[in-house]
Amino acid sequence: MTRMLIIGPPGAGKGTQAVRISEKLGVPAISTGDIFRANIKGRTALGQEAKSYIDAGDLVPDSVTNRMVRDRLAETDTADGFLLDGYPRNAAQVEELDAILAELDQELDAVLKLTADRDELVQRLLGRAQKEGRTDDTEDVIRHRLDVYDAETAAVVDLYDRRGIVREVDGLGSVEDVTARILAALS
Ligand code: AMP
Repeated sequence: MTRMLIIGPPGAGKGTQAVRISEKLGVPAISTGDIFRANIKGRTALGQEAKSYIDAGDLVPDSVTNRMVRDRLAETDTADGFLLDGYPRNAAQVEELDAILAELDQELDAVLKLTADRDELVQRLLGRAQKEGRTDDTEDVIRHRLDVYDAETAAVVDLYDRRGIVREVDGLGSVEDVTARILAALS
């Protein structure tokens, strides 16, 4: 398993697990949310384009996001694999990723779906808000991001399910336990 993505609602622990799994497997973790946040911090044009959407908990327009992912996947460190975190998030992005990988003569091996119930997610995100101070971790925006996940991103899992590459992992429990579950699901 070398070309993977991790998907799940906000607060399920995708980012934390993506970093741990990518280190174990020796492939880069690519988080679209992290790339956006780095660009906002660095005051780049991309950051300026994305900021208002992120602060509102909405998806950044596909034209912006797709271009960013295309450029990132063209870098040489992804030649032997990658773990995408936070992309694709809607059906159009699935199509775009298919096109990008076809051009690179690559295929996705697995989609890791991390689950957790909604109350748990809201509690975790509110906890993170205090620690990290993310501008999109206020209660209203958190609820909106969960709605966006249900409305747009849940369908992404269905699309990959039809291809038979989804592996579902329970995201509840300690960070270590969840990592072990993911590694077991991948082996
Ligand atoms: P995350 O760190 O994955 O929770 O992403 C934080 C925010 O970045 C999201 O709420 C979106 O506003 C934006 N974002 C991240 N990935 C994408 C994507 N694939 N498509 C559109 N917006 C995204």
